[in-house]
Amino acid sequence: MQLYNTLTRSKQEFNPIQNKRVGVYSCGPTVYWFAHIGNMRAFLFADLLCRALRMNGYAVEQIMNITDVGHLTDDADEGEDKMMVAMKREGKTAYDIAEFYAQAFFKDLEALNITPASRYPRATEHIAEQIEMIEALEKNGFTYQTSDGIYFDTSKLADYGRLSGQKLDEKQAGSRVDMGEKKNATDFALWKFSPTTGSGNTKRQMEWESPWGIGFPGWHIECSAMSKKYLGVPFDIHTGGIDHIAVHHENEIAQTEGAEGKLEANYWMHNEFITVDGGKMSKSLGNVYTIEQLVEKGFDPLAFRYLCLQAHYRSKLNFTWESLEAAQNALNRLRSTIREWDAPLAPSLFEGEGGGRGIALEARFSQAINDDLNTPEALSILWQLVDSDYPTSAKAESLLKFDQILGLHLDQFIGKSVEIPPEVQKLLDERAHARTEKNWSESDRLRTEIEERGFIVEDKPEGQNVREM
Ligand SMILES: [Zn+2]
Repeated sequence: MQLYNTLTRSKQEFNPIQNKRVGVYSCGPTVYWFAHIGNMRAFLFADLLCRALRMNGYAVEQIMNITDVGHLTDDADEGEDKMMVAMKREGKTAYDIAEFYAQAFFKDLEALNITPASRYPRATEHIAEQIEMIEALEKNGFTYQTSDGIYFDTSKLADYGRLSGQKLDEKQAGSRVDMGEKKNATDFALWKFSPTTGSGNTKRQMEWESPWGIGFPGWHIECSAMSKKYLGVPFDIHTGGIDHIAVHHENEIAQTEGAEGKLEANYWMHNEFITVDGGKMSKSLGNVYTIEQLVEKGFDPLAFRYLCLQAHYRSKLNFTWESLEAAQNALNRLRSTIREWDAPLAPSLFEGEGGGRGIALEARFSQAINDDLNTPEALSILWQLVDSDYPTSAKAESLLKFDQILGLHLDQFIGKSVEIPPEVQKLLDERAHARTEKNWSESDRLRTEIEERGFIVEDKPEGQNVREM
């Protein structure tokens, strides 16, 4: 299996640390607002990776953190705490906000058919582990104290910047961070002291005792501490969006190396961004879409999954309503085609027939996935299978195997006839009646009404034939 490793800037043969078990750590959501489609692309990518590893016979232990201790409004250590912003906006406690948005996140995962991770550890439930790691860093001489917290001294680590490939001085020159009391622009907070002012809604609710005083952890330390706890050091694969490379993941590597003297993970994999209408997503443009908003517009969340599969994870994906519509149409065509199929052959029977006719396409499908998760190629092989003239029971058998990777819930459609809702059936009956009376304008009007409910009517000699759009 070939995977692109950001650390080596090359596609590499994947070699796990243990023989048949793989540890994957995926940076999870920050839970003080809804996850948007750009966030969801990262989680879909991590899901695809885990499915592909399982296809190759590995048992996967996937850990995804929930960042519930609000980090600051920019990626540096300045600005307003995001959780505090949410508390003011919603008039709820920090813990209620975290719980609310964590549940909304789990709902999105389910809607997108993302296989649950093995664990979703929360930062607030791992404060002791984070303090322990900061103590190790302190002991090894990587920290210093300022008036507002404990900082990591990036100049103490010889290869700081290895992930992004930027040398420390280049990073510093390109950085416009307000230095404050920091020694180097790239230094970052491990522990922040709670402000001594504030009460009621402006008072921090998430703060803890530590050897350095009451406060809260910096953003990066939770991932180093929780990946160590659940996967050990080093583990196999770390995933995240490319926006994490330069700061968050660089700092995770620095923390684990400083505390443990080892590289945190062997493979670092990053997915590209989503753009909307060719530009950036931003609150001010009102285009920071959530999965719920796609559903409100009548789309199936799995159409968004299909859209993501159409682009390689390392390519930018431009989201437009038209592109989502096209993905929905392709998915609908796939579903209505496979409804007509015979049930899949039992695997033993399939193999007993001399290897099965879908085998060549199955081999090509696996090759595409094992070539750094080439899903556009995998989808094109899927359509070759669908449009081939193999027996449909054999095609169904292969398609179910493909869907273990693609995750489009195709098992719910193969060989299952359309369920027509009662209100659509009523319109169909009315239309049949109109046609016996040769009332063609009424028949056309009813056809439009039926289409508005997502069904297409075709007039056949034996009567009306209905399928989903
Ligand atoms: Zn992380």
